[in-house]
Amino acid sequence: MDKFKFFMPTDTFFGRGCILANKEVFSSLGSKAMLVTGRNSAKKNGVQKDVTEALDALNIPWVLFDEVGENPDVETVERAAKMAVSQKADFMIGIGGGSPMDAAKAIAVLAANPEKSSDILFTEPKAKAMAVVEIPTTAGTGSEVTQYSIITIHEKRTKRSIVQKVFAKVSFLDPKYMDGLSAEITNNTAVDALSHLIESYLSVNANYMSDKIVEMGLSLFKDCMPALKLRAYTEEVRDKLMLASAFAGVAIAQSGTSIPHCLGYFLTYEKDIPHGRANGMVTRAYLELFPKEDQKVAQLLHCLDMNNTEEMGEFLNEVLNISETFTVEEISYYTDRTMESPQKLATFPYAVKKEDIFKVYEKSLLS
Ligand code: NAP
Ligand code: FE
Repeated sequence: MDKFKFFMPTDTFFGRGCILANKEVFSSLGSKAMLVTGRNSAKKNGVQKDVTEALDALNIPWVLFDEVGENPDVETVERAAKMAVSQKADFMIGIGGGSPMDAAKAIAVLAANPEKSSDILFTEPKAKAMAVVEIPTTAGTGSEVTQYSIITIHEKRTKRSIVQKVFAKVSFLDPKYMDGLSAEITNNTAVDALSHLIESYLSVNANYMSDKIVEMGLSLFKDCMPALKLRAYTEEVRDKLMLASAFAGVAIAQSGTSIPHCLGYFLTYEKDIPHGRANGMVTRAYLELFPKEDQKVAQLLHCLDMNNTEEMGEFLNEVLNISETFTVEEISYYTDRTMESPQKLATFPYAVKKEDIFKVYEKSLLS
């Protein structure tokens, strides 16, 4: 068996009601919290109330930054970090989908280094960060158990991960906050989790342990596939989706993501296509980049009870209801942009050329 390293330092609580049942863990993280949320959902689904009730019971003061939009940009995290510094907050609680959770990590770095500019997010891997708690309300990005924080850089017309590895100290996984999540967001985000499972499994950076975790994640995901198709979700399905997403996060924390994430970032930036959906749109063609005889692809499809990549394509079309249209000029531009940063392509186990990337976009977006 090959040698490998495995790292996952986040204290993780799972289950309905897990925040209030374990609230004492907030006491060890700092003296004043900043809650980092999106504009609406945290207020509606009960999570903000549970967190503030826990903090109030422990006499931990808190401030709220509730202006994180989808795909948070550098300007937003800069603004929040200034508020954290002026309010003397010394730990972050990211609450929501991947956008507020990722923003909380970047804010934790900037607020811990108030004398430095936001450039450090992309230049100083060793910059310190305040403690972070993450509470996912989508399933999802897995940001609650990964070291990544994906931030939009308008100057570069794309999204990049910050260079610091900011794992949450604690994460609370309570699926009840997703009970009212729309079918559209549920399916788009579930496909993000699926893409993490797939990209981790097929990456050159996968290892024995990340593969076993992916296989468990795929098994949970498979159980949810009928509900995703029907767009009707029981509590059990919500629980399994949240766990599949966390397993997928633990896996990409080891291996990173791969080609679909790289290609998807341009669809999100240029066409506002939600992140998970963007990955899902290119996934079948990505799988078809592998030689037909690739055993790992066969094993992956087997884990989902699929016989071939067409079945994967049909599943993704059904759950995403893909209808966006593109031009050849657009996909040529995305292809050129993809080739500018070839690091993600290096995670693919075979040589990939520019024509291959164009073909993935063409098959996915023009046919
Ligand atoms: P999101 O951008 O965080 O949220 C999408 C929408 O869902 C928002 O309108 C949000 O509303 C709403 N929402 C969230 N939870 C809800 C709930 N429980 N009920 C009702 N509405 C809810 O979406 P996401 O797909 O979870 O996150 C995408 C981001 O994560 C991208 O920036 C992506 O690059 C990043 N990402 C990070 C990692 C990582 O490892 N760190 C991995 C993959 C993706 P509000 O705005 O009102 O809250
Ligand atoms: Fe993702």
